[in-house]
Amino acid sequence: MPNISYVDGVYQNYENSKININDRGYHFGDSVYEVILFNKGIFYDFEEHISRLFTSLNSINIKFSLSRISLKIIIKNLIKINRVSFGSVYIQVSRGIAERNHSYKGMNIKPLLSIIVTKKLNNIGNDTIGVKAITLDDNRWSRPDIKTTQLLPNVLAKTEANIKGAFEGIFIDSDGYVTEGSSSNIWIINNNNEIITRPIDGQILSGITRKTIAQFAKLNKLIVKEEKFKKQELYKSKEVFLTSASSFVTPIIEIDNIEINEGKIGQTSIDLRNLYFRNSRNNL
Ligand code: PMP
Repeated sequence: MPNISYVDGVYQNYENSKININDRGYHFGDSVYEVILFNKGIFYDFEEHISRLFTSLNSINIKFSLSRISLKIIIKNLIKINRVSFGSVYIQVSRGIAERNHSYKGMNIKPLLSIIVTKKLNNIGNDTIGVKAITLDDNRWSRPDIKTTQLLPNVLAKTEANIKGAFEGIFIDSDGYVTEGSSSNIWIINNNNEIITRPIDGQILSGITRKTIAQFAKLNKLIVKEEKFKKQELYKSKEVFLTSASSFVTPIIEIDNIEINEGKIGQTSIDLRNLYFRNSRNNL
């Protein structure tokens, strides 16, 4: 069980890891985050996740002065101290601590970095399991492309999915098109064996796993298209799968109680999942 976290410069036990009541992340969701998967000292898409963290920080104008190198050292130390072999690291940077006020203009505050390591069940070698999903209206703010901790619609969607016995809630925009999952990007494979996912159009998060999988698929001579698709197309797809750092490539075999491919996991989803584990690695 990992039990050491990093909060604002200090490595300490969870019981002592406290965040100030005036942290703007707590008050306003005024913070950004990343989740990175690791396995025996190897990270998946490490550099890309760190780059996106800095992009998110810039997008909401958080002046974070820690260098990439220092951040990497902290993450590496934390994983070592916690003695976790397979898991994920959660990195959050809030704008900092200040008396509650919506505007941060003129506030001379220092961003607050906190990091948690979570042990995960290593099911890489096991048989791939297909999951169920439900669809729901996308009621998020108009900047879901920024990876902020302001995740209430995602929290409610995932919970509704879980209550209905499903793993993921898939958001549908006001024109009936799939945007993304509550914590994942969504893909379909049509009857022409084309692999399709929504383009990066500002209405979804630019998933790191999404990008990696698209590259692997193309390298393996699969046809990848970035196009919007409707809910009805989801139902009649040959395969549907989701991607995220914490769920890798996970096949979806039922949506809104409708079986996809008669409830069977498709071979391309399995192949892409295996490709991901074999190839997307960075040493620290
Ligand atoms: N969309 C949303 C809303 C997410 O929360 C996530 C996971 N953070 C993703 C997509 C997938 O992104 P990634 O592959 O970078 O984990």
